[in-house]
Amino acid sequence: MGRTFFVGGNWKCNGTSEEIKKIVATLNAGQVPSQDVVEVVVSPPFVFLPLVKNELRSDFHVAAQNCWVKKGGAFTGEVSADMLVNLGIPWVILGHSERRAILGESNEFVGDKVAYALSQGLKVIACVGETLEQRESGSTMDVVAAQTKAIAERVKDWSNVVVAYEPVWAIGTGKVASPAQAQEVHAELRKWLQANVSAEVAASTRIIYGGSVSGANCKELAGQPDVDGFLVGGASLKPEFIDIIKAAE
Ligand code: PGA
Repeated sequence: MGRTFFVGGNWKCNGTSEEIKKIVATLNAGQVPSQDVVEVVVSPPFVFLPLVKNELRSDFHVAAQNCWVKKGGAFTGEVSADMLVNLGIPWVILGHSERRAILGESNEFVGDKVAYALSQGLKVIACVGETLEQRESGSTMDVVAAQTKAIAERVKDWSNVVVAYEPVWAIGTGKVASPAQAQEVHAELRKWLQANVSAEVAASTRIIYGGSVSGANCKELAGQPDVDGFLVGGASLKPEFIDIIKAAE
């Protein structure tokens, strides 16, 4: 199967240029396993992308946190996939639950974004995940499957897609999913990919977990067979992120 462990750092809407430089300096000094063991991608706010890209060690890569759904034009306030490619930004996070919930991005809109970004040559971290209410009503897998289906209907080549399973109730709450809860959804998602896309895509696509991942809980989560890495929010702004990267070992 050979799925290289993947650790993403989602810095969200945080940081001044001084703080960003400090985080980058910490990352640059970190002793971590080599790129064939772990792929590391950090995602600063748009305005800091060039700074981070220029100063970050060459074995780590950068991602934007969003991009527009199609080619640029009269879309005030948006940033197009084409612009990211032009700047040499290799990755983009799409469909994060904060954008789905706060900015009303639908499954279809996220699917369209993923397809367009891939068509322009970006690699995509596509986020899916259920709310607490949905989990408690027993619809976790229906929700996650519908989110994934909207992507699968628009995407043929999955080689540049990483799926991030991020239960909304675990994001920024300190309430991490248990290793068993994460493993259960990751395994179901992989089964869904096998049934609805292909056995190869199911076997090769990285499914990473996000939601209150920390230096303290990452090792046990990483030990689950279908957890192929993490998307880290709060802890990715701290030196602790280095420990999370080391969970790949
Ligand atoms: P958190 O965020 O690690 O702060 O919970 C994860 C995310 O939103 O990607």
